[in-house]
Amino acid sequence: MSGRIVKIALDSPLDTEFDYRWTPTANEPQPQVGQLALVPFGRREVIGVVTAIGDASVYDATKLRDVIALRAQLPPMPPEWVALCRFAADYYQRPVGEVMLPCLPKGLRTATTVALDRALKNRAAATQPSKPPKKSRAKRASGDEAAYATLPTAALQPDAGIEAEVPVSAAAPTLNPDQQAAVDAVTASEGFAAHLLFGVTGSGKTEVYLHTAQAVIERERAKGNAAQVLILVPEINLTPQLEGSVKARFPHRQVVTLHSQLAEGERLRHWLAAHYGDAAIVLGTRLSVLAAMPSLKLIIVDEEHDPSYKQQEGLRYSARDLAVWRARQLNIPVVLGSATPSVESWQHASTGRYRRLDLTQRAAAHAQLPRVGLIDMEINKAPDGLSPPLVAALRARLERGEQSLLFLNRRGYAPVMHCDACGWISNCRRCTAFMVLHKPERRLRCHHCSLELRIPQSCPTCGNVDLQPLGRGTQRVEEHLQALFPAARVLRIDADSTRRKGSAQAAFDAVHRGDVDILLGTQMVAKGHDFQRLTLVGVINPDTALFSQDYRAGERLFAQLMQVAGRAGRAAVKHDGEENRPPAEVLVQTRYPQHPLYRALLTHDYPRFAQATLEERRSASLPPFVFQALLRAEARQLQQALDFLQAARDLMPCEGIMINDPVPMTVTRVAGVERAQLLVESSSRAQLQAFLKPWVAALRERKSRLRWSLEVDPIDI
Ligand code: ADP
Ligand code: ZN
Ligand code: ZN
Repeated sequence: MSGRIVKIALDSPLDTEFDYRWTPTANEPQPQVGQLALVPFGRREVIGVVTAIGDASVYDATKLRDVIALRAQLPPMPPEWVALCRFAADYYQRPVGEVMLPCLPKGLRTATTVALDRALKNRAAATQPSKPPKKSRAKRASGDEAAYATLPTAALQPDAGIEAEVPVSAAAPTLNPDQQAAVDAVTASEGFAAHLLFGVTGSGKTEVYLHTAQAVIERERAKGNAAQVLILVPEINLTPQLEGSVKARFPHRQVVTLHSQLAEGERLRHWLAAHYGDAAIVLGTRLSVLAAMPSLKLIIVDEEHDPSYKQQEGLRYSARDLAVWRARQLNIPVVLGSATPSVESWQHASTGRYRRLDLTQRAAAHAQLPRVGLIDMEINKAPDGLSPPLVAALRARLERGEQSLLFLNRRGYAPVMHCDACGWISNCRRCTAFMVLHKPERRLRCHHCSLELRIPQSCPTCGNVDLQPLGRGTQRVEEHLQALFPAARVLRIDADSTRRKGSAQAAFDAVHRGDVDILLGTQMVAKGHDFQRLTLVGVINPDTALFSQDYRAGERLFAQLMQVAGRAGRAAVKHDGEENRPPAEVLVQTRYPQHPLYRALLTHDYPRFAQATLEERRSASLPPFVFQALLRAEARQLQQALDFLQAARDLMPCEGIMINDPVPMTVTRVAGVERAQLLVESSSRAQLQAFLKPWVAALRERKSRLRWSLEVDPIDI
C-alpha cells in the first residue's frame, strides 16, 4: 500500500475537513479516527483531528500535503466525542474543527509534544498498578520531578477506575425523604432520563448530587465497569466550595476540575485524567461538557438556568442543552438542578420530557426560608440609596453580631457623570454607552470597550468644576455604608475588587470566617455560596430589569432575587440563648411593590412565576414556543451592516420561517464598530434547522468582508 488519505478537522473558519496524505513507515501505527495529528496548513504547522481515513480524495492526490506526525502516544478521541462535536457543529452551524480544537487544552495543540510527553510520564507514574506505598505518595506530593523519572512508564490501566474502595468518608448526612426520593428516582433509571431537580435554596441539592454520583459509581463497579461522573457548575468562583465537598466525600477517587482559569499545565493534566478515565469525577464549567470521558455514566448540571452556560462567542453553544444531548446519546441519566429552573426546562417538565423531582424544604435542621419584605421607595426616600427600614435592619444585625449582604448589580461608583450647567454627560466616544465613574481608581471607564480616562477636573464643554455623579454603583454604596457605620467591617465584592487572581476566593473566605459584617456586591455574591452567618439580605434598585426590552430580563431578575435571598437563613442550628431569634430577612427596595414578579417573590413561589411567564411567552409567541436564530453583523457604518442583513434576508425562500427586519443592536456601537441584527424564527425546530444550513452556506459563499455571526437559540436579543 503506497499511502492513504486522511481527512482532518482544523480550527479554521472554512467549513470543510482537509485531505492529507499519510504514508506508512515501518514503525508507525495506522492512523485512527479521533486521533490528533500535526499537519502543515499554509505556512504553519497545526494540530487537527482525524475524522476519516480512505484511499481516495476528490483533490489531485499529488498536490496533497503529508501528515507530519500522528499523536499516537495519546488514545484517539472516542467516537462518541466525535459524534458530539459533529452534532454541535451541525446544530450551531459551525465548522466541526471549530468545535473540536478550541476545547482541547493548549498543551495538545502545539507542534511540540514536550508538555504532552511530560504530562503522560507523570500520569504513568501516578497510576502504577499497585497502590503506591506511603513513601512514594510523599514524593508525589512534593512534586519532585526526579522521583518520577525512576518509575517505569506504565500503560493505561484498564481498571484504574474500579479499584477497591474504602467506604465513603466525610460524614455524609442522612438524606431527608425528599432527597432520598430524588436519588432513588435518578439511580432507578438506567438508560437516558432527564431529571429536573427543583429544590428551593438550601434544600440540599448538593447532597443529592453527591449521593447520586456515589450510587452510580458503586452500581457500575458492582458490574465490573468503570464509571465517570461529570458535574457542571456555572462559575469558576463557585468551584472551590463544591470541589472541597466532592473531594472530602470521595477521598479515594480522583476528582479533577476543568475551567478556563486553570494554569495550562494543570488544565492538560486534568483533561488527560478525564480522557483516560482516571478521574471518577470531573467538576467543570461549560467547556467541560466537551471533555472526552470514556466511562461517562452520569451528568449533573447545577444551577441549570444560569446564563453562563451559554458561550457568547465562537461556537455559541448551550452547555446545558449539549449535556442533555450527550446523556441521550450515551443512554445515561442527566440531572438539571435549580431553585429557579429556566422556563424552557420548566416547560419540558410540564410536558413530561423531563421528570421533575422536588425538594420543598431547607435541609438543615432549623434552617428556614427567609421572610421577604418589600420596601416601597415611593414612600421611603433614600437620597443615598439606603432606605430607613433597610438601615435599621442593618443596624440590628450589627448589634447582634450577624452578617448582612447587600446586592446591587451595578459596579463602579456611578453609572454616569453629568454637568448641571450645560448638560454634558460622560458618553463613551467609541460606544453607544456611558463612561462609568470609578472613584477609588480615579477613572472613567467604559464597560463595553474598556476605554479609560482620568476623571475630568472640569466640564469638557463649559468648564464647570462641579461635575455630578448620577445614580449609584457598589463603590458609592460602600462609601455611604462606611460613613453610616464607621465601626462595621464592610467588604465589597465585584469584578473591580477581585481583579487579582485568587482575590475573590480570599474575599469569600473572609466572609465565611466571620471577618465581615456587611458584604456588598454584584451578582458575584448572589450565587451558590453557603454563608452560614448571614441573616439579612438587602436588594438595592432591582427595578430597571422590569422594563427591559429583553423579554428574558424578568426571568433573570426573579432567578437572581431568589438566589440572593437564598443566601440568608442557612444556618443549621440556633446558637445558645437565641431561642427567640427572628427569622432571616430579605428586604427589597422597589418602587413597584405591586408588580407580580415581587408578589411571587414574597411567597418564594417559583412555580407561580414560571407559569405566568410561560403563559405570556405563549401568547406573545416567544421561546420556548418558537425557535430562534440571530444573525449579527458588524461594520464601520451602520448602513453597511443593515444592508448585509437585508441582503441575507432576501437570499432564499423561507417556507415556515419568519425573518424579521434588520435592526441596530441596543448598544449599537462598541469600540467604534456598528452592530445590527436579524432575528429568524420558526415554530418548528426542525424547520429552522433545515433553513439555517443552506442559508449559512450561502452566506459563507458570499465572502463578505464584513464580520458576521449566527447564534442558534440566542439568549440576549
Ligand atoms: P442547595 O444547593 O439546594 O442550595 P445545599 O446543598 O448547599 O443546598 O445545602 C444546604 C445546607 O443543608 C448545607 O449546609 C448542607 O450541608 C445541609 N444539608 C443538606 N442535606 C442535609 C441533610 N439531609 N441533613 C442535614 N443537613 C443537610
Ligand atoms: Zn458643562
Ligand atoms: Zn466604550
